[in-house]
Amino acid sequence: MKNIDFSDGIELLLNSENILITTHIYPDGDAIGSALALYNFAKVLGKNARIIICESASPTQYRFLANSEQIQMYISEQHDEFISSADIIFVLDCGELSRVKSMKEAIKNSNAKKILIDHHIEPENFADLTFSNPKAAATGELIYYFIKQAKGEISKDIAEAIYSAIYTDTGGFRFSATTAQIHRIVAELIDSGANPDYIYENIYNQNSNARMKLNGLAMSNIEYFCDGKFAVICLAEDIFKQTGASIEDTENMSQIPLSVRGVLVSALLVETVEKNEIKVSLRSKGNINVREIAAKYGGGGHFNASGFRLQNTTLEKIKLDVVAGICKKIVYLHY
Ligand code: 5GP
Ligand code: MN
Repeated sequence: MKNIDFSDGIELLLNSENILITTHIYPDGDAIGSALALYNFAKVLGKNARIIICESASPTQYRFLANSEQIQMYISEQHDEFISSADIIFVLDCGELSRVKSMKEAIKNSNAKKILIDHHIEPENFADLTFSNPKAAATGELIYYFIKQAKGEISKDIAEAIYSAIYTDTGGFRFSATTAQIHRIVAELIDSGANPDYIYENIYNQNSNARMKLNGLAMSNIEYFCDGKFAVICLAEDIFKQTGASIEDTENMSQIPLSVRGVLVSALLVETVEKNEIKVSLRSKGNINVREIAAKYGGGGHFNASGFRLQNTTLEKIKLDVVAGICKKIVYLHY
């Protein structure tokens, strides 16, 4: 992967005092790990840094990471003053500003220099400085280079946060972005105190019984289309009431149907009545570009992993539409 020159971003950070770090709604391991690694580094530099995330605090499985209790959920009355007077706003792992949802206006209106660090394809041009590389396995990989270029020390806290970011975004070092270089970085993170077994245990082995029930129901209701090449899971609102599980419990579920022999693409559709919204996750193997499909609905992501959200529609309607779009793609590429 070609190295990014972070000099301008590092200089800004060194010369600033008040720093906001934020990321996308429904933050995943890469979002949380990247934010905490950068936060911990800013603290070492003696900065007044804060992590504020729209509509969500830190998901429970990442609460073992140092300073995760400092992550705050955005509340306009509490945070707008800090956001408007911040010197820098780091937006991490978030190629479109709309993905910070309710924080968007406060960020846009702030005089702070905005710095985007991201690895999505074609990020929006909303920041003063954009450091983006879609070849990076995770935004956490870019944060690692940023700290190294700034001659920062990879402390145990930083190592654990970056490890978690890379570990989750590569599906446990399995996806195609898992390069030899990533393994070299990870070796250094382990040397710096990140313990793979401890991190795995915290992130992946903390399932609640409610989540297991949700998984069971979801797996037994997978629907197959296009000669078994496309698998779809639909979760209507009542399944959450029935099992006691929450939307957080669907993280990574979209990946599971790809383990079925012959499946090339999977979709997970989740209904949230409260937000009057359907959240769609798409995953694929090989040459099937699911980002293109997500982009049609105003979403985005990566070639083999993407997502979008739609309001004022029904699960059934989206399902039919997505099935038609994906089957067309599969037929074009695989028959
Ligand atoms: P997930 O399915 O795990 O929510 O997201 C998969 C990938 O698609 C991630 O890289 C995520 O950033 C991206 N993604 C998910 N939902 C959206 C969305 O609504 N808009 C955009 N631009 N990207 C999304
Ligand atoms: Mn990411």
